[in-house]
Amino acid sequence: MRKAARKDVPGINKDVRKRVPRGAAREADAIPPSGELLRYYEAMSGALGPMRWWAARTPFEVIVGAILTQSTAWGNVERAIANLRSARVLTPAAMFRVPTPRLAALVRPSGYFRQKAKKLKAFVRFLETEYRGSLERMFLTPTSELREKLLSVHGIGPETADSILLYAWNHPVFVVDAYTHRIFGRHGITNGKPDYERVRAFIETSIPRQQELFNEYHALIVNTGKNWCRKSAPRCEECPLRPLLPANSPLAISTGIVPLETSLPGSLA
Ligand code: SF4
Repeated sequence: MRKAARKDVPGINKDVRKRVPRGAAREADAIPPSGELLRYYEAMSGALGPMRWWAARTPFEVIVGAILTQSTAWGNVERAIANLRSARVLTPAAMFRVPTPRLAALVRPSGYFRQKAKKLKAFVRFLETEYRGSLERMFLTPTSELREKLLSVHGIGPETADSILLYAWNHPVFVVDAYTHRIFGRHGITNGKPDYERVRAFIETSIPRQQELFNEYHALIVNTGKNWCRKSAPRCEECPLRPLLPANSPLAISTGIVPLETSLPGSLA
């Protein structure tokens, strides 16, 4: 796995820990010490290097990808997006005009294609109605207000809304996903319950509110989940977060794993 120097991580200030808000609201079930979540970030970043998500050509492509990636692998999304690009419907105006059955055929590789075509249509209709079809106008809306509006669109739930806000236009919101619940739950940082809003608020108030940090942190969690923290057989021995697995965490207790005593390479501590 490629190592990355800290200076390679975009937007992360060396003194970032000093700006962790003290006394901010935290999740009630478990309160890690201030800066603890940044140690997780450093460990994952040191092992995986900069992620630089999201690899899309336009903000609209990010939005389309965020909707199509629901319940499918990213490779399927890429095939669907390639179809949309070839058919020249990868703009809000073109997608607004294309008939829904035609759109469904184009996004077929992403699975649940009829439902996803309706979701895409719902979004471009929303964009047309609320912002006269302009993404620029839409993203000028204050973050919390736009988040509420996006959540009212058919097919856009919290994870999709936050992915759109963060990765399409750099709004500082943290994207929580199944890997976040799994990793932090196994480490006893959260109670492991998939309570999206509580976990999001907890993370957003535990690390500096920097768009670049939120972007990288979520991408690192996804990659750590895929590479090591698998659902049925976590590969703790090779995982960069193993030094941070507490002895009294649910997973350590159930598997008998004894955490390492060593400090983190590249830790800010
Ligand atoms: S150390 Fe184990 S439990 Fe922790 S993130 Fe890695 S694989 Fe998951």
